[in-house]
Amino acid sequence: MKKLICILLCLVFLSGCGYASSTSESFESMDTFMKIDIYGSEDVAAKIRAEIERLDGLLSAQDDESEIGRLNKNSTAELSEETSDLLAKSLELCNDTDGALDISVYPLVEAWGFIDKNYRVPDDDEIKDLLKYADYRKITLDGNSASAGSGVRLDLGAVAKGYAADRAVGIMKENNVRAGILNLGGTVAAVGEKPDGSKWRVGICDPENTASYFGAVSVSDRIVATSGNYERYFERDGKRYCHIIDPKTGYPADNGTVSVTVISDSGLLSDALSTALFVMGIDGAKKYWRDHRDFEFILLDDKNNLWLTEGIEADFKLNADYDYNIKTIKA
Ligand code: AMP
Ligand code: MG
Repeated sequence: MKKLICILLCLVFLSGCGYASSTSESFESMDTFMKIDIYGSEDVAAKIRAEIERLDGLLSAQDDESEIGRLNKNSTAELSEETSDLLAKSLELCNDTDGALDISVYPLVEAWGFIDKNYRVPDDDEIKDLLKYADYRKITLDGNSASAGSGVRLDLGAVAKGYAADRAVGIMKENNVRAGILNLGGTVAAVGEKPDGSKWRVGICDPENTASYFGAVSVSDRIVATSGNYERYFERDGKRYCHIIDPKTGYPADNGTVSVTVISDSGLLSDALSTALFVMGIDGAKKYWRDHRDFEFILLDDKNNLWLTEGIEADFKLNADYDYNIKTIKA
């Protein structure tokens, strides 16, 4: 099952003022659906698609020939400058989030069936055993030489779409393209402005009805990444198990968080933190935000509370059909 995407992108009318041309690309990559709309260029959307496909070939944990796949298979690998740089930044984020983000959760993600879609609830002993391998501190980098402890396997699924978004924005800049809206499987890059000069509106999925959205943020030059328990999950005996694993317990995160959207000017940061804050839950997320302040977030919990950091409040609009209790988080 591909990850469900539900991001409403506003309608763009190209009449009158605005950009001379627009191009779109819709495709599957990084195990999800992507749609890129670029304004003012004939060929940049195709260049970005090619770049994302290249990155998938470099970073996929499931491809034995990718750089990450080789590291997983052999426990050591000589990486390209680009992959080692991404790995170093990802490890920093693992450390900074105190392991809520942990790029070594692959064995657990696999045991719960999220890789081959044979979903299962592993028993406690199996989880206890696998937890020994889920520890990002066992991954080391010396220049471009990476090693992972025996049995440790990496999964950059929580950060790769964000990094891809940053590369896409870089390609737009290199080509002097100023506007576009790129939905990379729920990580949305809103670049420049809409043809009418207003900000882009990025809708946030209603977890109960993924064809709809509960609200939208108005943004320009921001990356908006959402992680939710409705994206990939299975149910057993009435309980939902989602694809985001709490690396401290080995079980899917289960702290009352339903979805987290992070807004920042870095794709890598937004993507990494949407996953990490989901694991932390509201109390951890508030504390992390107060300690950092280089991003904003919107968190929906299972009690109908919608938590917003104060920096995004003015740019967020709740749809009239939703009666969530809005709670503003102040610094
Ligand atoms: P995202 O969709 O960005 O929230 O990333 C979720 C994906 O990252 C999952 O499908 C797993 O492949 C992987 N993952 C799950 N839990 C974690 C975690 N705590 N830290 C890092 N990656 C994770
Ligand atoms: Mg993420």
